[in-house]
Amino acid sequence: MTHYLDHAATTTVRPEATAAYAEALRHTGNASAVHAAGRRSRRILEEARETVAALLGCDPAEVVLTSGGTEADNLAVLGTARARAGTRVAVGATEHHAVLDPAHALRREGFGVDVLPVGGDGQLLPGALDALGHDTAVVSIMWANNETGVIQPLGEVVERAHSLGIPVHTDAVQAVGHVPVDFRASGIDLLSLSGHKVGAPVGIGALLARRETPIVAVAHGGGQERGIRSGTANVPGAAALAAALTVAVADLDREADRRRRLRDDLLAALAAIDGVHPTGTGLPEDRRHPGIAHAIIDGVDADSLLFTLDRAGIAASAGSACRAGVHEPSHVALAMGWGAEHARGTLRCSVGWDTTAADVSAFAAVVGDAVGRARRAHRS
Ligand code: PLP
Repeated sequence: MTHYLDHAATTTVRPEATAAYAEALRHTGNASAVHAAGRRSRRILEEARETVAALLGCDPAEVVLTSGGTEADNLAVLGTARARAGTRVAVGATEHHAVLDPAHALRREGFGVDVLPVGGDGQLLPGALDALGHDTAVVSIMWANNETGVIQPLGEVVERAHSLGIPVHTDAVQAVGHVPVDFRASGIDLLSLSGHKVGAPVGIGALLARRETPIVAVAHGGGQERGIRSGTANVPGAAALAAALTVAVADLDREADRRRRLRDDLLAALAAIDGVHPTGTGLPEDRRHPGIAHAIIDGVDADSLLFTLDRAGIAASAGSACRAGVHEPSHVALAMGWGAEHARGTLRCSVGWDTTAADVSAFAAVVGDAVGRARRAHRS
């Protein structure tokens, strides 16, 4: 039996999402078509959009449906930078590659890129926002980090950026459905989310984009989704996203408390091992993701630790990008000041709506031995 502790990578599809998806699949009809079948698909699509908007505090017209978080991030960074007159973009040092890489790609178009530093606790350094200027076209700072679970001070980012007239994008892929998110109240201009992190299937996500925020399409075609995101609408995906988000938001407070307890038990099991450094434990609770437990471990290679855990029935993650089956040193750990050796020794356990105390106990029972084995493998 596998104890799945990798919900930040992708979480179990919720039964409500499966039901909504299956129901929508029964209807043939392109949502852009004028006939009755198309209009029925359009109705399902627009109802899903309205539900997502109501749950996240925005107008339905502000919900631009995408294939997931990566597409939403690319659209926000590339689309806003190209639509505005600025010559620079600013991104946090610990952003997901779906934000960092489009920012760096903009260099080829002549943009300068300001990478805003974080401190040892993973939070944006107080002076980091000094890099913003009148020539900054867009700033992108994530809501919750996918490796460490650290939540960024977005209120300060919005205040500073707006004082200079800069639109703010946030990658809220790990936040939506896990912590309270109110788009309107946040003051944020662009927000990315992804269905498969909240219990919908892979293949659906959204960019919430204020009507007045300048943005141009990245992919061109049929002009769907306000002309910003062309492509035939994924109606079953949208229905599943709305269904999954409905349950996630309704359960949010109760679930956050339950998950925090599971997270803290995971961290306690890790902290009991010599040479393990849990991340974020000194931060106030409102700066921590309720479901992500992360640690940096002396003298291990993440790949061999994950392999050892997997053989013991635990599915966990290094949190960092994996290319050709091998984890790269975590750019998040490096940005937080750890050396390359430690940035290769990261472990992330993440809990979801169907995680139980038994999953955490199973982890606690084997993690000490797994770290010992991984350390011996690392030394030899
Ligand atoms: N941004 C963050 C913070 C993520 O954690 C992920 C996925 O791991 C993504 C973006 C990409 O989302 P998707 O898998 O939906 O493309």
